[in-house]
Amino acid sequence: MNCCSFCGRPETEVNMLITGLNGFICDSCAVQAGEMVKEHLHLPSGQGNANNLHFEDLPRPHEIKAFLDQFVIGQDDAKRHLAVSVYNHYKRLLQEDSKDDVEIEKSNIIMVGSTGTGKTLLARTIAKLLNVPFTIVDATVLTEAGYVGEDIESILTRLLQVADYDVPKAEQGIVFIDEIDKIARKSDNPSITRDVSGEGVQQGLLKLLEGSVVNVPPQGGRKHPEQKMIPVNTKNILFICGGAFDGIERKIAQRLNTRVVGYAAAKAVERVDRKNLMQYIAPQDLKAYGLIPEIIGRLPLLTYLQPLDRAALRAILTEPKNSIIKQYIKLLAMDGIALSFDEEALEYIVDKAIEFKLGARGLRSIVETVMSDIMFDAPGSDTKEIRITLDYARRQIGKANPASLQSV
Ligand code: ADP
Repeated sequence: MNCCSFCGRPETEVNMLITGLNGFICDSCAVQAGEMVKEHLHLPSGQGNANNLHFEDLPRPHEIKAFLDQFVIGQDDAKRHLAVSVYNHYKRLLQEDSKDDVEIEKSNIIMVGSTGTGKTLLARTIAKLLNVPFTIVDATVLTEAGYVGEDIESILTRLLQVADYDVPKAEQGIVFIDEIDKIARKSDNPSITRDVSGEGVQQGLLKLLEGSVVNVPPQGGRKHPEQKMIPVNTKNILFICGGAFDGIERKIAQRLNTRVVGYAAAKAVERVDRKNLMQYIAPQDLKAYGLIPEIIGRLPLLTYLQPLDRAALRAILTEPKNSIIKQYIKLLAMDGIALSFDEEALEYIVDKAIEFKLGARGLRSIVETVMSDIMFDAPGSDTKEIRITLDYARRQIGKANPASLQSV
């Protein structure tokens, strides 16, 4: 039987045995040998620059934004903030070697915008570009320790998983916490009864944002006494939070209205664009919504996403690199069929998305409804070319079950 020439273990006792000219090496000896080589040649490993970053290779903010532009329509403010924030995050990770006392602190970021405006899409897109571990978690499942739901620490479980449980790597990662508004306090006054999903969770989250060593359950979920915890230092983890904050426009409007004192102020408010109040969002609006000031203080970058107007929806249909229409064209191209859409048909799809109040998320279900018969019938037929006309789109939507088009 073949044995590892280094440790002597037989083939049956190792995961893998690599054959050389005059011998063999098992997987664990190979890993160990790799570590020795790294150490000997002073290659970066372990703490410090765990993700092997080099300043020259870092994408600059305008490059990050240009990348996001390929996939996400509009939302320039959020893109610029994200780009700078991610770039600075990288620089912070590289500062270990600097000799001076200036320590760059992290600036976590919070994105506010109605559902379906592209918050998660931005996060997912930026993840494609990153070379540090990145994960998206949902704040809705979080509850205070001792209650049904997941412990706050489980936020970091996913990050550990994507970093293959390499703790130093995970400690430099980025976490996107979606639906942060769901852990807002339900009323502006601290409640008398316990607010299980509100303030307690925020206090827990604060610990993570501030930077501390927390014990993370490796498999997620709740902490079990018998489960071995992994200590993770969150000092260098960048947190990006996103939330719809439904109704926050009212808080913004209230604030803008109460400020109107004197002639100059009245003039300033005249210029307020009432249709898009989100652009005036300020930290105190988040407080009025029910986030505790400490949390807001730990999310110093506040940015917003615009509601998507007609032009944006039309652009989303065809312009992003992996737009829905491009995906359908590709699907049928694989069957040797050239698919095209008349401009009127596309405009009609946008109209329907607006009519059903479905936003960008609805575009897909509407296109799917229009395309469903073709996707079934065309493959394998003699058809070589298909043009979607306004008439065809109308007929397909007309015979669809309207409920299937509603958003969930
Ligand atoms: P949110 O997280 O803000 O609720 P999502 O990012 O999940 O919204 O958006 C839902 C879907 O709508 C995305 O998968 C994408 O197809 C589309 N979409 C939303 N906003 C945009 C945008 N600005 N550019 C391109 N597509 C978008």
